[in-house]
Amino acid sequence: MGKEKPTDSLIDVVDIGVVLLDAEQRISGWNLWIASRLGYAGDLLKNKTLAQVFPETSLSELQPMIDDIYQMACGLDSECEETSSAKGEFADIQRQLESWHLVVPDSADPLQVNRFTFRLLLKPYRSAKGEHGCLLQFSDLPLLGGGEDVASIIENEHRMRTIFESARDGIITFELNGKIASFNKAAAKLFGYSDLGLGDMSIFKIIDELSALRHQKDLDVIFSNWEIEFNNIELTGIKSCGTTFPVEFSISQIDNQRDDLYVGVFHDVSERKHTEEKLERLAHFDPMTQLPNRSLFRDRLNQAIRRSNRSKKSFILMYIDLDRFKVINDTLGHEIGDALLQQVSERLRLCVREVDTVARIGGDEFTAILEDVSDETSAAIVAQKIMTAINQGYQINTHEVYVTSSIGVAIYPMAGETVSELLKHADVAMSDSKAKGRNTFSYYTDELIEASSARMEIEKGLRTALVNKEFYLVFQPLINLEHGNVFGAEALIRWEHPERGFVPPDQFIPIAEETGSMLDIGRWVFYTACTFCRKVLDSGKDSFQIAINISPRQFADTGFYDFVHHVLNEVGITAHSIELEITEGLLMEDVEANIKLLNRLSDDGFRISMDDFGTGYSSLSYINRFPLNTIKIDRSFVQGLPETLDSLSITKAILYMAKGLGLDVVAEGVETESQKNFLRDELCDLAQGYLISRPLNDNDFLEWLAHYVK
Ligand code: C2E
Ligand code: CA
Ligand code: CA
Repeated sequence: MGKEKPTDSLIDVVDIGVVLLDAEQRISGWNLWIASRLGYAGDLLKNKTLAQVFPETSLSELQPMIDDIYQMACGLDSECEETSSAKGEFADIQRQLESWHLVVPDSADPLQVNRFTFRLLLKPYRSAKGEHGCLLQFSDLPLLGGGEDVASIIENEHRMRTIFESARDGIITFELNGKIASFNKAAAKLFGYSDLGLGDMSIFKIIDELSALRHQKDLDVIFSNWEIEFNNIELTGIKSCGTTFPVEFSISQIDNQRDDLYVGVFHDVSERKHTEEKLERLAHFDPMTQLPNRSLFRDRLNQAIRRSNRSKKSFILMYIDLDRFKVINDTLGHEIGDALLQQVSERLRLCVREVDTVARIGGDEFTAILEDVSDETSAAIVAQKIMTAINQGYQINTHEVYVTSSIGVAIYPMAGETVSELLKHADVAMSDSKAKGRNTFSYYTDELIEASSARMEIEKGLRTALVNKEFYLVFQPLINLEHGNVFGAEALIRWEHPERGFVPPDQFIPIAEETGSMLDIGRWVFYTACTFCRKVLDSGKDSFQIAINISPRQFADTGFYDFVHHVLNEVGITAHSIELEITEGLLMEDVEANIKLLNRLSDDGFRISMDDFGTGYSSLSYINRFPLNTIKIDRSFVQGLPETLDSLSITKAILYMAKGLGLDVVAEGVETESQKNFLRDELCDLAQGYLISRPLNDNDFLEWLAHYVK
């Protein structure tokens, strides 16, 4: 028996006393009726022996009968090898005491005593664990026509009836074959019948059989062992109109006169179920897209891992991130952004099978668990399908919106054995897709594993690189193509990692950007470059421009503006000596704020230059919104000069348009005389590259400058 103390409404409503003894003859269950007469509150009866509860005089009469019950039950067991068939035989065993006198102290006043005369019925029972026990049934009134007067019998029955009718739960008595014998108003109402409607019906018409079958085991225990079950069983009730509802059902056989009559108490739990379901949804589903949230996703991933371990079949985890979703959100507004996410979710759901999980685990980040897909080729097909589905245009209000996605694919168990590992590695593969230019998918492979451990090492190293003075700057001169004068230099950072040696800036700057350490590094670069500029001016050069690369992260820093002015003051140079090199990344995020900041800086005298021009997606007309002075033609175009047709036409076009907008043009990566000559002939203003000089450290640069001849 699961719950030992009777808390069940029925057992406390009935007009008899019930005490259960366990295998050790200790009290394991009871109802209020008997507890209140004995003067025990709460749990105090639990585990008591009968000797602790009843006075010796009363017990001496009772004890032999109890022992009898245990003995007979055991005897029946050994007779019958098949214990289950013996269970039914128990029904025949019982002992009775027609009038049992009990004197107990009054719980309210220990000097007073209470006297009772009970009719006692003793029966064996078997607990769920299979142990023998004894059921003691007490009643005030001898049911088999004792010497009690008729008036009290009628009064008692009347009381029973009142309790029965006033109960809020439905109470139905029925025979073993299911035929309903009696029921209260609440029961008729619960199942949608008139006050008389349930009469002569079968209990199986109002209870869904399947739901009962699910609890077959519990019901078997109840019916075959006629054990009083205090546990509630949840069944599906059927109303007269045919609709179903969850109902909690508890049962007992309590009619002392008829062993085949059962009493069931039915409690409507629709409301509670509804609330539970709502809470469950809130805890596990994303309210906006109705997709499983991160927490449910982790559960499902855990289950997939367990299933895969059993079946020895791999499965796939995909990490799907929308490309440049932030831009859409910022430019079109959050409502459109939300609507887009909802439509994307719907398309994702349609891309996978019903049994697969698609979850939303962050703003524009989704995951899919694909069981039954276990190799790269089939993963590729699904990934392609997802990308194609997402790429189709979206109609949101009056807007036609387009978005692409980057996907990372991790195969269990190759790509990791735990939930966190898998998720992290699918994320790493997704980042690789972003790095490859977005709108593509990548697997988490051995090379990526290598790269990610390298990345981790870099990430760790970056945290201490500044304090350990592992950074230094080198400077690469820019010369004026028309006159050959040295115009200035670009400051480029260098990092000497204690273990990995030289780490190129292309490798660590993106990581520093992501982890946030770029802010401090950027400040150090700015300060050091300004100091160098001061040094060059002090060496006797009357005008010198130092070009400093500024990462988007630095622009987002609200202290940036004050910081640069503070440095200028401290070092003693003016804004006119500084060119800020920005990248197209700045055009993608927080455009308005960036334009405002650039305008202020430009007004202060800083020159602004657009780096790596031509590699991104910005058109000249778009960058016209920024207060630019210079654009730098990316070295990939310069490389192809003057032979490659593409490079040639692009360079010419950039030069032509830049001139039209009144911008200076720097060609970077100039390595040959023919490149230089071509650029000079096309009226490119400045050149930078190995042909003029490699980036040099500060002393070498000063030396180079001193010996430079036009
Ligand atoms: P970038 O701003 O385009 O810098 C020019 C890159 O081209 C430098 O690479 C430079 O060494 C290289 N270069 C110069 N002349 C030639 C040439 O003739 N041929 C070839 N093949 N390459 C040449 P570096 O120093 O490795 O820097 C790579 C990138 O790292 C830079 O590209 C810039 O985006 C970033 N970076 C470097 N220093 C900083 C810094 O202090 N702050 C920020 N935010 N970014 C930096
Ligand atoms: Ca640059
Ligand atoms: Ca560049």
